[in-house]
Amino acid sequence: ASGYSLLRDPHHNKGLAFTIRERDAHFLRGLLPPTVASQDLQVKKMMHNIRQYQVPLQKYMAMMDLQERNQRLFYKLLIDNVEELLPIVYTPTVGEACQKYGSIFMRPQGLFISLKEKGKILEVLRNWPEKNIQVIVVTDGERILGLGDLGCQGMGIPVGKLSLYTALGGIRPSACLPITIDVGTNNEKLLNDEFYIGLKQKRATGQEYAELLDEFMMAVKQNYGEKVLIQFEDFANHNAFDLLAKYGTTHLVFNDDIQGTASVVLAGLVAGQKLVGGTLADHRFLFLGAGEAGTGIAELIALEMSKQTKAPLEETRKKIWLVDSKGLIVSSRKESLQQFKKPWAHEHEPIKELVDAVKAIRPTVLIGTSGVGRTFTKEVVEAMASINEKPIILALSNPTSQSECTAEEAYTWSQGRAIFASGSPFPPVEYDGKVFVPGQANNAYIFPGLGLGLIMSGAIRVHDDMLLAASEALAAQVSQENFDRGLLYPPFTNIRKISAHIAANVAAKAYELGLATRLPEPKDLVKYAESCMYSPAYRNYR
Ligand code: NAP
Ligand code: MN
Repeated sequence: ASGYSLLRDPHHNKGLAFTIRERDAHFLRGLLPPTVASQDLQVKKMMHNIRQYQVPLQKYMAMMDLQERNQRLFYKLLIDNVEELLPIVYTPTVGEACQKYGSIFMRPQGLFISLKEKGKILEVLRNWPEKNIQVIVVTDGERILGLGDLGCQGMGIPVGKLSLYTALGGIRPSACLPITIDVGTNNEKLLNDEFYIGLKQKRATGQEYAELLDEFMMAVKQNYGEKVLIQFEDFANHNAFDLLAKYGTTHLVFNDDIQGTASVVLAGLVAGQKLVGGTLADHRFLFLGAGEAGTGIAELIALEMSKQTKAPLEETRKKIWLVDSKGLIVSSRKESLQQFKKPWAHEHEPIKELVDAVKAIRPTVLIGTSGVGRTFTKEVVEAMASINEKPIILALSNPTSQSECTAEEAYTWSQGRAIFASGSPFPPVEYDGKVFVPGQANNAYIFPGLGLGLIMSGAIRVHDDMLLAASEALAAQVSQENFDRGLLYPPFTNIRKISAHIAANVAAKAYELGLATRLPEPKDLVKYAESCMYSPAYRNYR
């Protein structure tokens, strides 16, 4: 290839880092200014540039631009500055990027499969340049973060998630495939937007929807085999639970909104026992929001309690209560409830308001997963603080604008007694002369390591015990020093090491359950996980 095209190939481009010898060998002389820069210096310069931008969306666009110019530098930047850049390539900024995706869209970063591709999905997959795919993240854009139906513009989510699979979990970028399935949108604003990039029609449902998804799932298996991980992302709950149940027995599928969230939140709660004393089974849980996140977390907590206490699942579920848009979920509502809510319809009189539910149920843990901001009011937090010495309050709705309360509110309204974590990041808070560092129950702790564990063991199915294994591994990475600062999660700086431990624990479970196909089992799974990880360091071109 000519030097000129080398500079335009994001997989090989090193910019000023091409050495003099490389410049001679690859016809680059004169195409670059004379300076030779190290990758570290390039990182320093790029971070300097990105910090100049005041608007987060500009930082996002600078990152996407870098990803298209110089892939290795993009990942090096992300890995070396993970805490600073995570909120840019992921929630909350990625949400804003999706909302404006139509106008900032420049070049395709993944595959679009719309109703127009029906009957041709296998061909579409073959148009993608990479053949060895290990992870697919797919969305249909119906419930992007807490932002609702963004249709085809949801593409930002699979792209962002997969860049984290690489940066945090060490999956090779070429093995990652972002996909958006476009069956239309019910978002009137998009339907009336002349710049909208997706199908301008109402969402297909029922059989038409099911057939497209079925063709997609079959084509993926036919083209990439049985060991490709398919992560469902940001589907609306009326499809998400069904898809997971339907394909869970035939494909390696994982729903991050249901299962990943459950695993990361459970890890925080397990770690939190070190702060409050006791075990999970000592707690009573109340959720605001009974959708994918809420019922997913509830189910995994119940499962873990059942393993710990040997009590049947039906018993441990009774310690968990959920409120949806109609109020507390109780047995008198059972007939009219969606399937995934039925296990949580316990005996109780109906209650409409959250604050009344808090007073009646007297939970020790309050978890917000409704997607509606400002719902943990002063009254609600004060009620939690009057019931508990150390109330555990998790405001998980994303992005920041939808958070049930801010970190500052949680600490202030509980007089500094709350143990708080959120879905989107909040800065540390000073209250009464003490600094509180809120934890972030970020799914990015779990899915990259879980994915690596599945891939490195050649797993063919995801099992709930693997989610528990991932939680356990994450909780074990919270150090005494972290606890001393009130943290439920370890800092992101060591995320690659954390991911390696999660991967090892998940892989061990895959072998134990007979779901692993990569034989023999490696002796040291943590070392093996580390050895599998992609490194963004430049290669030498001789
Ligand atoms: P979902 O499946 O649509 O569920 C939303 C639930 O909230 C539904 O049960 C809904 O009630 C309920 N709800 C809506 N408005 C309400 C209100 N005003 N009062 C009480 N309940 C209300 O959505 P999801 O996937 O679970 O996601 C929910 C939120 O969690 C999103 O903001 C998402 O970003 C966040 N999340 C955070 C994390 C994390 O922190 N790691 C992970 C995943 C998701 P009905 O069933 O009656 O409609
Ligand atoms: Mn999601």
